[in-house]
Amino acid sequence: MSSKVYFTDMRTEEDDSLLKKLDRLVRAAGITDLDMDRKFVAVKMHFGEYGNLAFLRANYVRVLSDIIREKGGIPFLTDCSTLYVGMRKNGIEHLDNAELNGFNSVTAGCHVFIGDGLRGDDEVEIPVEGGVYVETAKIGRTIADADIVITLNHFKCHEITGFGGCLKNLGMGCASRRGKMELHASGKPEVDPDVCRGCGKCVKACAHEAIILDDGTAEIVRERCTGCGRCISACPFDAVSIAFDEESAIVNCKIVEYAKAVLAGRPGFHITVVADVTPYCDCHSENDVPIIPNLGMFASTDPVAIDRACVEMAQEQPVIPGSKLHGICGDVKPADIFSTVNPRTRWESHFEHSARIGMGDGRFELVRVG
Ligand code: SF4
Ligand code: SF4
Repeated sequence: MSSKVYFTDMRTEEDDSLLKKLDRLVRAAGITDLDMDRKFVAVKMHFGEYGNLAFLRANYVRVLSDIIREKGGIPFLTDCSTLYVGMRKNGIEHLDNAELNGFNSVTAGCHVFIGDGLRGDDEVEIPVEGGVYVETAKIGRTIADADIVITLNHFKCHEITGFGGCLKNLGMGCASRRGKMELHASGKPEVDPDVCRGCGKCVKACAHEAIILDDGTAEIVRERCTGCGRCISACPFDAVSIAFDEESAIVNCKIVEYAKAVLAGRPGFHITVVADVTPYCDCHSENDVPIIPNLGMFASTDPVAIDRACVEMAQEQPVIPGSKLHGICGDVKPADIFSTVNPRTRWESHFEHSARIGMGDGRFELVRVG
């Protein structure tokens, strides 16, 4: 069985625009078939770390918000906070970052809610049916409470997962801090003794008495630590961090399981923009030259098929001179652009595992929309 994936390229005539093309694309793909009447509709996206300019603009969201309101729905824009130190590590700084990058109720046409609360621990546990690596996915409560989930995904390479698209936006992006710990790491957080100032805030934040202050420096008792990640956001000096030590293929399998949990029991619709395909995630506060030309916009109700369509069509694109990829391979295009840019990654595991757990292997039928 293959799923339909709708596609439009990035060419525009004078009396047209990419926003009008996006509107036509999502309507052709059936977004208005969703029963949105008086329903909370989450639009899940990545606001981009401040300094990065490759993330998707709020203008794309506005097109979706207008359609959701036209159908009687109540849209809101959302993302969950990060595990690593940056400008999106708690609910307040995350909102600041979103505003700095142009996301607000006027530009996006709806309010912005951080999905997992002030400290990244407002979550709901959702069982993963058929899960191999994860029993219950820890999902930001605001997203878990939505009636419908629409993902707006920026497709790019990724230093851990190989590529980042719909499954990553769903699986990793909707996870609470504890969920992200489970996805990213096989270990527990660590305190950098050179940065720790012994203020004790992490000790107070830990519900499991797993942190002791030894000679003015915090130390994590690994046997007691449950990996909730609360101490990471509690530390005002960014002294606590997690080792991102899980293998790429395993992270991808867990992401697929989390994505399945996010969509369980409610409708989903997915849009991916393949433009500014940078070597790394939008979590970076910088963005390098894109490795391939801007390709187009995709829409589908199948989160696996839309990722597969993006991957396969991206692989067919020429390499942009001056990019990291061109620096590696020159004018000889590699068979696999993703593992060439980020060699320790294995993107195929997304699709192998989605087939294994009953989400399909992403086979698709491409429908072109003008
Ligand atoms: S991760 Fe959670 S349980 Fe472990 S030390 Fe930090 S706050 Fe305590
Ligand atoms: S909150 Fe940070 S600085 Fe304060 S004791 Fe804990 S690790 Fe050290």
